[in-house]
Amino acid sequence: MLLADVALPVPIARAFTYVVPAAHASRVRPGARVVCPFGGRRLVGVVLAVREGEAPKNAKAIAHAVDEEPALPEDLLAFLRDLATYYFAPIGEAVRLALPPVDRDTAREVEEPSLFGEARGVGARRIQWVVPTSRVEEAGALRGQAAALLAHVRAVGAEPIAKLEERWKAARAAVKRLAEAGLVTVEEREAPRESLFGEPTTRDVPHDATAAQNAAIEAIAGALGEPRAETFLLHGVTGSGKTEVYLRVIAAARAAQRGSIVLVPEIALTPQLVARFRARFGDDVAVLHSGLTPRERHGMWKRLHDGEVDVAIGARSALFAPVRALGLVVVDEEHDPSFKQEEGVRYHARDMAIWRAHRLGGVCVLGSATPSLESEQLVRTGRVTKLRLTERARAQPMPRVDIVDLRRIGPGPTGDKRISMPLYRALEETLRAKEQAILFLNRRGFAPSVRCEACGQLATCQSCSVALTFHKRALVVRCHYCDFEAALASRCSKCGAEALTLEGVGTEKLEETLVAAFPGARVARLDRDVARGKKVETILGRMRAREIDILVGTQMVTKGHDLPSVTLVGVVNADAALSIPDFRASERAFQLLVQVAGRAGRGDAPGRVLVQTWDPDHPAIAFGAKHDVDGFLVQELRDRRELGYPPLTRAALVRVDAVDEGEARDACDALARVALACEPVRTGVVRVQGPAPAPIARVRNRFRFRVMLRSVDRAPLRVVLAAVEEARASLPRGVRASIDVDPVQLL
Ligand code: ADP
Ligand code: ZN
Repeated sequence: MLLADVALPVPIARAFTYVVPAAHASRVRPGARVVCPFGGRRLVGVVLAVREGEAPKNAKAIAHAVDEEPALPEDLLAFLRDLATYYFAPIGEAVRLALPPVDRDTAREVEEPSLFGEARGVGARRIQWVVPTSRVEEAGALRGQAAALLAHVRAVGAEPIAKLEERWKAARAAVKRLAEAGLVTVEEREAPRESLFGEPTTRDVPHDATAAQNAAIEAIAGALGEPRAETFLLHGVTGSGKTEVYLRVIAAARAAQRGSIVLVPEIALTPQLVARFRARFGDDVAVLHSGLTPRERHGMWKRLHDGEVDVAIGARSALFAPVRALGLVVVDEEHDPSFKQEEGVRYHARDMAIWRAHRLGGVCVLGSATPSLESEQLVRTGRVTKLRLTERARAQPMPRVDIVDLRRIGPGPTGDKRISMPLYRALEETLRAKEQAILFLNRRGFAPSVRCEACGQLATCQSCSVALTFHKRALVVRCHYCDFEAALASRCSKCGAEALTLEGVGTEKLEETLVAAFPGARVARLDRDVARGKKVETILGRMRAREIDILVGTQMVTKGHDLPSVTLVGVVNADAALSIPDFRASERAFQLLVQVAGRAGRGDAPGRVLVQTWDPDHPAIAFGAKHDVDGFLVQELRDRRELGYPPLTRAALVRVDAVDEGEARDACDALARVALACEPVRTGVVRVQGPAPAPIARVRNRFRFRVMLRSVDRAPLRVVLAAVEEARASLPRGVRASIDVDPVQLL
């Protein structure tokens, strides 16, 4: 009998066996979607394997085969299986990461034929394209339009001749000369598809790469030509032109008929970066962002799957884009914590990017101005090659950084210590020079906490052990963990006194203070409260158009924005990130500091950065102020080694939560005991820390406990995790337990 092992979207680790009806036999292949009866439901699963065998007792039959061609290509399926194993994740949930969005859940949608009967491609009309060859011209042999045109098609790939004529009047004559010299060919191909994006793009004219950029491009492009896999860490200071390197190596991959994936931290925060990709590749790039309708997403997925588009750009989930002949994976801002998924399958897109490229013999490029300790360690152990861009692309100097020691320096005329005298003066100067400033404060809302001055009670969320933040515009207190919201009470909930005071300063209050202090200035705010999705683009657009003088914001302002008129950056409270109980707090604070400082002085006028701190000697701040990334990495690696933390050890977190505190604690104790009984723990190879309550002990009404496991090598750690995973199944019903391999979020 023909049987299929099917991965179903249920939180059970194993695959399920179904009988393959003869009618569907030709379509039931690994990677193909099938509709299966499960419980009383019908679920869409993915076939992992097909085999002959004895049907298990009461095995059911596959109800329907969805795909003519498997939805998941073989290499992607194999990758997902490895990913599931690595993260101790249910195979069904791992496979689901890569399924086309519309129909991954309900069988009904899959069976609806319209989605699959969709016409492929739009324009069957054929036109003439100019395609660069690999031939190299003699030095000085080309001039004028021919030289410019050749440089252009080499950078962006094939272009319709009509499109080239829009830019170069004599394009046809130039193409003829280039073709005669064997530098391009003219081929008849399909006309470009209708835009996936609604609005047409103007193509950019690439800069001449700098010598440093060229060296990086050559190294990466060289590796693309080798069958062997290779990973690069592109460590380039802010403004050094990393994006141009990505664009060129993607063009090189395309010229070699290989597809690319570009991962960015949060696509909504990087409209400019996306625009640069579109300006270079036009509609040949699929932009996967959360603003797409399910249908649009599906369209993108399908175009990639069918090989009509060969570059995908998106946040971490774009790692699973079904790009054909994938040869290159770029991870921009690889240090960004958002690459770690913190729910469901807790994968790290950066780590998995290296892996996905590796198994295809492809190239992975990790780019950052502030590399993660993990990537730096890979360089030090010889597994990753470091490439450096030590100067800004247009040779602008790095901004000068001055530390404002809040222990000694008092408030300016506002009376608020968050706007110290030096910061006040610097803002005045910037406004006078008609330049722009960015102020970074990583707390949104008006006041981060509300306290009763009579009894000392802090107003906390009813379902989380988290202080409530006061939001003035909305006139509410809000929990930033569960979004619980309530009117600000007039009395303390504990003692009833009318003595509630607002504590601390959030971006909303900072904005208000600035508006009062600089009446002529146009002040705006960029944080999650004012900006979601398209709104970010609007605010950044106004900033670029110089309709804003001072932009106040959370870490949203630290992202790679290229705003040439920003000459002043103020870090309002550099210590905020340091007080978090997380072994990466220092690294994170350092990265934020250097990244936000990098927003200053990117244009012609030099930049200046003021860092306000209570702890100027802290390595994160002292090294950050000197832009000394290497110094920081050395020091931080030394500290991590001493304390036995990643990347010098491997870590995993066993997380347990339940509505009942005792139940959660008991379950966590039980899992800890399982770990303690394991051989590698008894011999001291794997260290166990906890069980202990999580730093934020309760979230959304569930009490949280955890056990941290650490080991120098991965193998013994996996032995212990396997035992814990097995024990998980026998926990009481209301308890949730999960394994987080290589944890990032520790709160
Ligand atoms: P990064 O990503 O390293 O911060 P960007 O790629 O944003 O840097 O580049 C910074 C600025 O320098 C951009 O405005 C970009 O257009 C410009 N730039 C990049 N490469 C070059 C080059 N080779 N020549 C001139 N300008 C360049
Ligand atoms: Zn809450």
